[in-house]
Amino acid sequence: MLDITYEIKDDLKNVELPENLVFGRIFAPHIFEMDYDEALGGWHNPRIKEFEDLRLSPAALVLHYGQAIFEGLKAYKQTDGKVVLFRPKENMKRMNASARRLCMPEFDEEFVLDAMKKLINLDKDWIPTKPGHSLYVRPLMIATDPVLGVRPANNYKLLIMLSPVGPYYPEGFKPVPIMATDEYVRAVRKGMGNCKAAGNYAGSLLAQKKAIAEGYTQVLWLDAIELKYIEEVGTMNIFVRFDDEVATPALSGSILPGVTRKSVITILNDWGYKVTERKIAMQEVIDRYNDKSLLEVFGAGTAAVIAAVSKLKYHDTVLKFSEEEPGELSAKLYNEITGIQYGRIEDRYGWITYVE
Ligand SMILES: *Cc1c(COP(=O)(O)O)cnc(C)c1O
Repeated sequence: MLDITYEIKDDLKNVELPENLVFGRIFAPHIFEMDYDEALGGWHNPRIKEFEDLRLSPAALVLHYGQAIFEGLKAYKQTDGKVVLFRPKENMKRMNASARRLCMPEFDEEFVLDAMKKLINLDKDWIPTKPGHSLYVRPLMIATDPVLGVRPANNYKLLIMLSPVGPYYPEGFKPVPIMATDEYVRAVRKGMGNCKAAGNYAGSLLAQKKAIAEGYTQVLWLDAIELKYIEEVGTMNIFVRFDDEVATPALSGSILPGVTRKSVITILNDWGYKVTERKIAMQEVIDRYNDKSLLEVFGAGTAAVIAAVSKLKYHDTVLKFSEEEPGELSAKLYNEITGIQYGRIEDRYGWITYVE
């Protein structure tokens, strides 16, 4: 087993976090870094060090051909002061799955999770404690070989950085407007849509920009082949609640297998709802809105946990839900999942991992 070295100066103890934490703007003072070199036998030199700029050759492969993957999870300080992560093994597993798809080297999941805990522990004063606040944890891996040519790199860096974040909804849990598009697609089956690969997000920006220009915060993507079935929204998976079923698109290969999605399915099954993972046509959503058997629509992802939908636009059709109040089930799920995360509700599924 490798040993983590610490390259840190005196601990910065007096942490003063800004009043209003905007997502991803400030970072905790330390990062984890580890290098991969095929010639040196793989992953080596794991270290926790000051957060500082990277040194990379302008020829570094990641800058040209996009071998870059990431993850996103959160550390919470519970009411009794314990620091916890929500299902972090799922993120480690998914990151290795992304690595395999992009011909990047896999890593020892337990080792990296342990490094993540050590890093969070060192910077635990940077976990904001106000309601709805947390420490966003961002692992990433990039190809660093300074040579041009489209091929898998031999050298990589794995990094973990931390960012104190406020609640996704600063004014409280408020529904968001989303817009379905058939003008662009996010990902195609057998592509890399099921990976948290940087390129997927670059490709989504133009549609996102157009949605924002029309007053919608996120894009609801349709399948890339028939442009008929709903897939997911922004960085969230989507759920539609009909009067007799809660449905979410099946993991067809182009959809990100969200940890929040998986948790929602488990909880809903437990609560006795009929949950289905299947193809959901945009037209079905519209038809069932019109015959009043569509009750609510919500997104599920780490950043927002649950995002109720206030309006869903597709071409000239606008499906309207409450703009003020989240749907009944959205609110219940939000309360349940954040309750488990912050320790208000018993962790009956064993989803909580203690950092110390
Ligand atoms: C991260 C992400 C999700 C949600 O995954 P979680 O594990 O629940 O955070 C859904 N869709 C996309 C495209 C994502 O990047």
